Amino acid sequence: MRVVLQEEALGDGLQGESRLFGLAEKLEIVRLLALAGVRRLQLGSFVNPRSVPQVANTDVLVSLVRQQYPDILCTAQVHNERGVERAVRSGLEHLSVIVPVSESDSRKHDGRSAAEVMTAATRLIATATAGGVRIRAGLRCAFGCVYEGEIAEAAVLDAVGQLAAAGAGEISLADTAGMAHPEQVKRLAAAVRAAYPEIGLSLHLHDTRGLGLVNLYAGYAAGVRAFDVAAGGLGDCPFIEGAPGNVATEDAVHLFKGMGVDTGLDLAGLCRAVDAIEALLERPLRGRICRAREESPPGTVRREAE
Ligand SMILES: [Zn+2]
Repeated sequence: MRVVLQEEALGDGLQGESRLFGLAEKLEIVRLLALAGVRRLQLGSFVNPRSVPQVANTDVLVSLVRQQYPDILCTAQVHNERGVERAVRSGLEHLSVIVPVSESDSRKHDGRSAAEVMTAATRLIATATAGGVRIRAGLRCAFGCVYEGEIAEAAVLDAVGQLAAAGAGEISLADTAGMAHPEQVKRLAAAVRAAYPEIGLSLHLHDTRGLGLVNLYAGYAAGVRAFDVAAGGLGDCPFIEGAPGNVATEDAVHLFKGMGVDTGLDLAGLCRAVDAIEALLERPLRGRICRAREESPPGTVRREAE
């Protein structure tokens, strides 16, 4: 049994941080993650560097990581043709495109209707895949939207169908607002797998309301074998100031280890990467298991406790 964990610390994770990370710092994080066994890595986003300064060095980061770690599957987000050109020039063969499912989220985030964004995305996917690039299409807020509440399953299935028809080889259902519930994750993942058995399915879950790991477990129970995670739980909620985002890589590895499921990742190595990120940020991150491993030996009573 094996699951694939895509590491989002340098993508989704750092984009929530106001402290800008230089190229050497990002490369050091990649080095530690690679030592811990990470083989699938999200490296940033090909957007206008002025709008997201944290990812301004994505082009050069991608080309250096591609050269130094040929066995790591690298990916980055693209939003338009120009982004695809830059990504391909940097040596990327795998890209990620994000599409909203909620009309209100689309208007607020993209300034266009969901149908318009979908049309542009399917065109982008068709062009990129024709050029030999593999595409993962992510559905933003697939489990719920802060403006519209729960999203109809039919709308998600319809979007998956359009993206698959355009050439996306993998679909990621994203709980961007952290509103998913484990039973809903099981239901939706099972429905997508039943309707599109040929397509790879992954889950991008946020821990905003404390259900990140439980939702991940529910996804696994429904047959999903690919998940996005971020070392230390780096990243936040785009809708709620200060609320958690990504599930921590090391906590997911700890969960799967207890289930006898191989992730290919080494917990001690991950904790070294988390240590390094915490030192750079000068604050503890949200992941739990690295802290628990450092606790006093069993039998030591640290205080009166229930
Ligand atoms: Zn996210």
